[in-house]
Amino acid sequence: PSTSISDYERLSVLGHGNGGTVYTARHRRSSANPPVVALKIFAAAGDPSAAREAEILALASDAPHVVRLHAVVPSAGEAPAALALELMPGGSLAGLLRRLGRPMGERPIAAVARQALLGLDALHALRVVHRDLKPSNLLLGAAGEVKIADFGAGKVLRRRLDPCASYVGTAAYMSPERFDPEAYAGDYDPYAADVWSLGVAILELYLGHFPLLPEGQRPDWAALMCAICFGEAPEPPAAASEEFRDFVARCLEKKAGRRASVAELLDHPFVAERDAADARQALAALVAQADDL
Ligand code: ADP
Ligand code: MG
Repeated sequence: PSTSISDYERLSVLGHGNGGTVYTARHRRSSANPPVVALKIFAAAGDPSAAREAEILALASDAPHVVRLHAVVPSAGEAPAALALELMPGGSLAGLLRRLGRPMGERPIAAVARQALLGLDALHALRVVHRDLKPSNLLLGAAGEVKIADFGAGKVLRRRLDPCASYVGTAAYMSPERFDPEAYAGDYDPYAADVWSLGVAILELYLGHFPLLPEGQRPDWAALMCAICFGEAPEPPAAASEEFRDFVARCLEKKAGRRASVAELLDHPFVAERDAADARQALAALVAQADDL
C-alpha cells in the first residue's frame, strides 16, 4: 500500500538538520506497526540527499547498529518526501551532551565507540561510507543502544577503494585527507575517513566540546583548515586512561594509511567485548539521568 505524509499525525519535533525536520509521528491506521515512528521530512522536493539516504537505508538498515527504515514516503518526483524511521527514544548524542551539561565518562563512551564501530563495520562491508559521523548523527535507545543515522552524505562505493573525496558532510569532523585532498594525495582510503570522524566525536563526548578548536571558537573554514590539516591531532588529557588515549590516537592518526581500521579498533582493549554489557548499562543510566533533567 502506498504511503503518504497525510497518513502520519505529527506529534512533536525531534530535531532539525540541514535537509529538513524530524518529528515523532503516529500512523493514523491504528494497526500500523510500529504505531509511532521518527518521520524525517525533507524540506526541498527532489533533495538528492533524500534519495541517497533512502537508497542506503534500504541496503543497510537491517544492521543492528544502523537506524531502521520502516517506510519511504514517496513524492511526485524521484526523491522521497519523507522517511519513516525507527524512533530512538534517547535522541542523539549531541542532545545527550547538551542535556547533561557536562562531559561523559570513559565507560559510557566505550559503549558508544564499540557500537558505532559495529555499525561502521556492517556499513563498510556493504561498501557504504557514511561521511558525516558526529554526535548529532549517533542515536540512542533507552537501554544504551547506539545506532548510526543520517545517511544524507553517504555513498555506496562501486568498487572497494573508489575515490569519494567530494566535499560533503560537516567540515568540522572531516579527516585531513578529505579536507585537503591535494596535500594528502596518495593517502586516501574512504573507510578511514569515517574512523577519523568517529575519533573526533568520541573525544568531543569526553571533553564536552568540539575538540579541534578552543571552546567557543567559531568553526569557520580557515580555523578548521589550520586545526585539521596543519595542527597536531588533538588528544585526551593526561588524566584519561592509557587505553582511552591510545584508542583516540589510533583514530586520529593524521595519515589515513596509518590510521587504525574498524576491525583493528574492534580488537582494542578500550572497547573490549567483556566490558560491553557494563558500558551499555553506564550509557543507559546517563540517558535516564538526562531524561530527568
Ligand atoms: P539532518 O540530515 O537534517 O541532519 P538527521 O537525520 O541527522 O537529519 O536528524 C536530525 C536530528 O533529529 C538528529 O540529530 C536527532 O536529534 C533527531 N533524529 C533523527 N532521527 C531520529 C530518530 N530516528 N529517533 C530520534 N531522533 C531522531
Ligand atoms: Mg544530521
